Amino acid sequence: MSGRRVLSVASEIFPLVKTGGLADVVGALPRALAREGIEVRTLVPGYPAVRDALTGAETVHTFPDLHGGSARLLAGRAADLDLYVLDAPHLYDRPGNPYLGAGGKEWPDNGRRFAALAQGAAAMARGAVPTFVPQVAHAHDWQAGLVPAYLRFGPRCTCRSVMTVHNLAFQGQFARELLPALGLPPASFGVDGVEYYGTIGYLKAGIALADRVTTVSPTYAAEIRTADAGMGLDGLLRTRAEHLLGILNGIDTDVWNPATDPHIAARFDAHRLPERATNKAALQARLGLAVEPGTFLFGVVSRLSWQKGIDVLVEALPALLRGNAQLAVLGTGEVPLEQALAKTARDHPGRVAAVIGYDEALAHQIQAGIDALLMPSRFEPCGLTQLIALRYGAIPVVPRVGGLADTVIDANEMALASGAGTGVQFSAVNREQLELALDRVQALARNRAVWRHLQVRAMAADVGWSRPARHYAALYRELAARPAR
Ligand code: ADP
Repeated sequence: MSGRRVLSVASEIFPLVKTGGLADVVGALPRALAREGIEVRTLVPGYPAVRDALTGAETVHTFPDLHGGSARLLAGRAADLDLYVLDAPHLYDRPGNPYLGAGGKEWPDNGRRFAALAQGAAAMARGAVPTFVPQVAHAHDWQAGLVPAYLRFGPRCTCRSVMTVHNLAFQGQFARELLPALGLPPASFGVDGVEYYGTIGYLKAGIALADRVTTVSPTYAAEIRTADAGMGLDGLLRTRAEHLLGILNGIDTDVWNPATDPHIAARFDAHRLPERATNKAALQARLGLAVEPGTFLFGVVSRLSWQKGIDVLVEALPALLRGNAQLAVLGTGEVPLEQALAKTARDHPGRVAAVIGYDEALAHQIQAGIDALLMPSRFEPCGLTQLIALRYGAIPVVPRVGGLADTVIDANEMALASGAGTGVQFSAVNREQLELALDRVQALARNRAVWRHLQVRAMAADVGWSRPARHYAALYRELAARPAR
């Protein structure tokens, strides 16, 4: 066995369904792994956006009753991806966000919706689709967390499993009463199984039962084994340390390529940096900011949440404005943070712009036009936005946590002297530290030569998928070579 067939199981996939970085990763991995000789197909729920995009769909398996209705596994292609789609209209045929219904509330049957996804994967792992029997099932985040549980508690199966934690903050916990409906045996409800503080923990189950656990940066892999960042799972993660591995995310360098980007006003690369000025002016004009080439322009593209430190950013805004800088924000999230940013924008027309919403094209335009990207995350498993910023020559300003510590090199004096810096890092996420970092990055920009070198180095950073894909390929090969349990 060479570990060549992998079923990736996820609740989002770019460009069909995306609420965050998870979708980017799930969408990019198959192509990157194909170059490593690994055939990855992805199992996703049959949301309307997925079903509508599917071409050449063929029913390859049926489930007479999956949580209250019949379901089909469809095989097909969409957006250049080989997909298996769990078509279960009673679970997934709902508009909008994949997890939330009207009023932003979680769907009450999310426990069943994502158990069904894992059951679909387990059926495939046991040969339900003879043309694609995976050697490894790769579960992404809590929504796929029960995959290793269904593989462990059920008929014998040679398929091995990988559980990837994209964010430990989202764990998927459901009432223990759901257990019989999930089709899991009573024996699975124990500390070594799906039980988690008296409930059923989907992510917990995946971490406890997968053959390997990965997360999306080496630093986060270390952090989550500590009480500070472990979110209740650090003890379990310590017991799995031998089988826990951090593999950095990459970005799709075709989607995020300033030299070919169809969304931006002027295409550029490290040899055509002056073109960034055109993008900056276009961005300022689009957002109603004063079109001033010499004014330092900060940007934020983010979920607006406590995790992302947006409240600290709001606290630092007066200092940012006193320094005569501008700020462009694109994001959605917690309502008080949305309101605070919108109010600041209203109070400071021409200096602060806040677009509350999700806008893929504007995200590209911001990265191409801003001078520096602010990302004051309290914790950050990997972070993609700073990788995109590096690629676009927008200097990332980030705290030294998680994947931010692993992907940005602080442009301190020593790093500058040795030609190594790519951004500005600060130690703790609080107003004082952020304000100092804001000052530091603007001071760097005042020296044109230093700044240009910084941008060139940022743009040269290896942010693509080649290296991470090699790590995943090695992991799959190693697992597939091991004798079945
Ligand atoms: P997260 O924790 O939200 O997954 P990441 O940095 O890993 O954070 O990934 C965020 C991804 O979502 C990036 O591709 C970023 O460009 C995109 N993104 C976040 N907010 C928005 C938005 N409001 N509009 C468009 N893209 C967004």
